[in-house]
Amino acid sequence: MTAQVIDGKAFAGRVREKVAAQVASLKAEHNITPGLAVVLVGEDPASQVYVRSKGKQTVEAGMNSYEYKLEADTSESDLLAMIDKLNADDNVHGILVQLPLPKHLNEDLVINRIAPSKDVDGFHISNVGLLGTGQKSMVPCTPLGCLLMLRDHHGSLSGMDAVVIGRSNIVGKPMAQLLLNDSCTVTIAHSRTKNLADVVRRADIVVAAVGRPEMVPGDWIKEGATVIDVGINRIETDEGKTKLVGDVDYDSCAAVAGAITPVPGGVGPMTIACLLANTVTACCRIHGLAEDNEFTA
Ligand code: NAD
Repeated sequence: MTAQVIDGKAFAGRVREKVAAQVASLKAEHNITPGLAVVLVGEDPASQVYVRSKGKQTVEAGMNSYEYKLEADTSESDLLAMIDKLNADDNVHGILVQLPLPKHLNEDLVINRIAPSKDVDGFHISNVGLLGTGQKSMVPCTPLGCLLMLRDHHGSLSGMDAVVIGRSNIVGKPMAQLLLNDSCTVTIAHSRTKNLADVVRRADIVVAAVGRPEMVPGDWIKEGATVIDVGINRIETDEGKTKLVGDVDYDSCAAVAGAITPVPGGVGPMTIACLLANTVTACCRIHGLAEDNEFTA
């Protein structure tokens, strides 16, 4: 079997188009322009690239983008004061603090200071609890993007066996929760899991979110399974160049899977598209307007 490629880039383009149409109608019918504030502390190069890309796509969707770049030695109290200001700002519907933060800042404290209604990353403890109890919440962007691709490919996920490799708060745990809410039988595997190959072989859906280049080989994949590769790893090629690879060995997995997301061009583009969708969702909820449920969990 040769897997169908799930084209996250094209899917993300469709999400962005629909988000832009929603933004246009919010402006025309309600005179509201959704606004996303992104706060970057320090000068981590990867974070700078992400923040630039988020700002650009926010503007392209017709929304207001507010970028705050703070010095690496910004104090916790100054950062919390900035979040308080954004929480109170009616032009701001989404707030994202780019992680990781410099070590002297307490990430949990900072994230939990964001108003849950504006927490477009879905990391606030209230949103985590709402998701965990199957209630309406803001859902973390990367797992939301994975879920939307899975639903698009399969329709209903009910009764499917899903294995999520990785238990981070950002990807693994919310991904497992979303799959459970969609009635999958979910196993969360992690660095201490015994017989990982056997665990993965049971799965109809495999989501790999580990951060280890090409660690999942094709002979771990059940014939016809759907493989969602969240990993983004830069490796050196034999020619001395670098390239991006995922957490699964693409060629051997694609030979047995029913469907697979490539890296790049799979989960990555969906993450920012879902951030834009979450910002519109937050804006609609804040203003008590009907939201488009197509891009929520
Ligand atoms: P993390 O480091 O926080 O978590 C990694 C998880 O993998 C841990 O829970 C750990 O238990 C598990 N793990 C480590 N070694 C393992 C092993 N040998 N076997 C099984 N499990 C093992 O990472 P994260 O933030 O969840 O990110 C995971 C990957 O996804 C990274 O490559 C990251 O760059 C990528 N990522 C991509 C996007 C995107 O938009 N595509 C977004 C977030 C993260």
